[in-house]
Amino acid sequence: MCIQCPQCGSTRITTRDLGKKVGGATGVIAGGVTGWTSAVTGARVGMTVGLMGGPAVIALGCVAGALVGGLVGAATGGVAGAKIGSVLDQRVLDNLECVVCEHVFSAPE
Ligand SMILES: [Zn+2]
Repeated sequence: MCIQCPQCGSTRITTRDLGKKVGGATGVIAGGVTGWTSAVTGARVGMTVGLMGGPAVIALGCVAGALVGGLVGAATGGVAGAKIGSVLDQRVLDNLECVVCEHVFSAPE
C-alpha cells in the first residue's frame, strides 16, 4: 500500500483512526451499561449458588458474578464499538493525514 498525499505528494501518511477510538470508547461505556445488567444477574446467580455454601460463599459468588458480567459486557461492547468505528473510518471519515503538510484526506478507492 503506497498512498501519496494529494497536496504535497509525500508518502509519509499516518492514519487518524478517529472513528475507531471514539467507537471503542463508546462501546466500552455502552457495553459496561449492558454489562451492568449481566452483572446484577451474575450477582444474583452467585448468591443463589452461595446460599448452599453459607455467607462467605454468598459474598464470593456475588462479587464473582458481578465482575464477570461487567467485564464481559465492557469487553464485548468495546470490540463491537471499535469495529463499527473502524468501518466508519474507512467509509465515511477522512482517515488519512499527511505527516508533512498535515493535509487530511480519505483513502483513494
Ligand atoms: Zn502533504
